[in-house]
Amino acid sequence: MKKIIVIGGGYGGLRAVENLAGIDGLHITLIDKHPYHYLQTEAYGYIAGRFDLPDIAVDLKNWCFGFKKWVEFLHDEVTYVDFKDQTVQLSDKKLHYDYLIMAIGAETNFFSFIEGLRENSFGVKKLQRAFNFRTAFERLLYNKMESPLDSDKGVLNIAIGGAGLSGVEIAAEMADVIKKHTKSIGESTQEIKIYLIDASSTILPGMSDYIIKNTHQRLEELGINIMTDSFIERVNSTNICFKDGRQLDFFFMIFTGGIKVPSFKLSREVERNRINQFIVNEYLRIPEASNVFAIGDCVEIHDAKGEILPPTAQTAERSAEYVAKNIKHSLVHQKVKPFDASIDGVFVALGGKYAVGEMFKVIKVKGYSAYLLKKLITYTYYIGLKLRVNTGFKKRTETLDK
Ligand SMILES: Cc1cc2nc3c(=O)[nH]c(=O)nc-3n(C[C@H](O)[C@H](O)[C@H](O)COP(=O)(O)OP(=O)(O)OC[C@H]3O[C@@H](n4cnc5c(N)ncnc54)[C@H](O)[C@@H]3O)c2cc1C
Repeated sequence: MKKIIVIGGGYGGLRAVENLAGIDGLHITLIDKHPYHYLQTEAYGYIAGRFDLPDIAVDLKNWCFGFKKWVEFLHDEVTYVDFKDQTVQLSDKKLHYDYLIMAIGAETNFFSFIEGLRENSFGVKKLQRAFNFRTAFERLLYNKMESPLDSDKGVLNIAIGGAGLSGVEIAAEMADVIKKHTKSIGESTQEIKIYLIDASSTILPGMSDYIIKNTHQRLEELGINIMTDSFIERVNSTNICFKDGRQLDFFFMIFTGGIKVPSFKLSREVERNRINQFIVNEYLRIPEASNVFAIGDCVEIHDAKGEILPPTAQTAERSAEYVAKNIKHSLVHQKVKPFDASIDGVFVALGGKYAVGEMFKVIKVKGYSAYLLKKLITYTYYIGLKLRVNTGFKKRTETLDK
C-alpha cells in the first residue's frame, strides 16, 4: 500500500483526493490546519451578506468519510517536511509518505513596504478575516440605518486595495447590496461610498479587453469610484496616503492586492519565486524531491507561451487532476505528458444577478446569462461537495451508533 499525503484541503487538495480515491493500492491522508474547506471564490457574497457560513464552508472530516474507500482526514498543521526521510511533521507526530502533494494555497500579501497596511486592513484569504469583514460591513449598514441622511457621521468610505478578481467581485457585490438596501433600510446607506484602488493602469490586470471594458462599465453603473494608477504608500486606522500626495479617509479597508505562499520548514532549500511560490518542473514535481508535487496557488504555473498564470481555483483543480494522473501512471511505470495549463475561461461576478465572462476565448457573455453560467459552475461544485458531506455524515453517525 503506497502512502499519499495531501497537505491542504483547498480547491487543489480536494480535487487531488477525489482523483486519487479511484486508484487502488493507495492510502490517502488529507491534512489541513482548519477543519473546513473554505470556498474563497464565494467570499464576495458572504462578505456582502448574500451567502451564509454553510454556503462557503464544508466540513472536511465528513467530506473525507463520504468516499467509498477510507480517506483519512487530520486536522493539524504541517510544520516541517523531510524529503530524505519522506516524513511530514505534525503537532505531535510524524507521518511517512511515498508521495506528497503540497496544496497549501496562499495568503494575503500585506506588502511590508506599505506602512501600516497589515495593521489597518482586512484580507479575505482566511475565513476568519472574511467573517470579521462581513461583521464590519453589517455594522456599517446598521449604523447608517440608525442615522438620518446628512447626519454628522456623513459620508463613510469603504476602501478596497487591489482591483484583481477578488477586489472587483467584493466591490461590486457590496455596491449592489447597498443599492438594494436604499429602498428597504433608508437613503442614508447612499452615504456609503466604495473606492476600488489599484497601482496598475487598469482594473483586472492581465485579463482580456472584453472582460476589462465591461467590468469597468458595470462598476461605474454601481457607483464605485475606480482609482487606478494609485500607489498606496501609507495606511493608518482611518486614512490612506498615496504616493502622489492624495489622501482618502475610510471607515474600513480591505486589501486584496497580492498573495504570498505561507512557509513551513523543508529539510533542504528548494527554488521559489519572489512570492514564495514553488518552482516545479513540467510534471509539477519539486526538482529537489521527485516524489513531491506542488499544485494550485502555491506553485508558479506557466501556460504554453511561458506566461505565468494568475492563481485561480480552476488552475488549482487542473493541476490536481494532472498530478493524480501522474501518480497513477508512475505506480505502473508509465510515462506522462508534461502539464498543460490552458484555461477554459473566466467569469467575474459583478453584483446581484450580473456577471461578465469569456469561455475558450470565443464565447463572450455579460449580464444575466453570464450570471447564470457562473452560478451553474459554482453550483455544480457546491452540490458535489454537499453530496459527499451528506454521505460522509450519515456514514459517520451510523458508525458511531454501532
Ligand atoms: C475573494 C476571492 C474571489 C475569488 N474568485 C475566484 C474566481 O471567481 N474564480 C477562480 O478560479 N478563483 C477565484 N479566486 C482564487 C481561488 O480562490 C484560489 O486560486 C484557490 O483557492 C486556490 O486553491 P488552492 O487549493 O491552491 O489553495 P486554497 O484554496 O487557499 O487552500 C489551501 C489550503 O491549505 C491549508 N494549509 C496551508 N498551510 C497549511 C499547513 N502548513 N498545514 C496544513 N494545512 C495548510 C489551508 O488551511 C487551506 O485550506 C478567488 C479568491 C478570492 C480570495
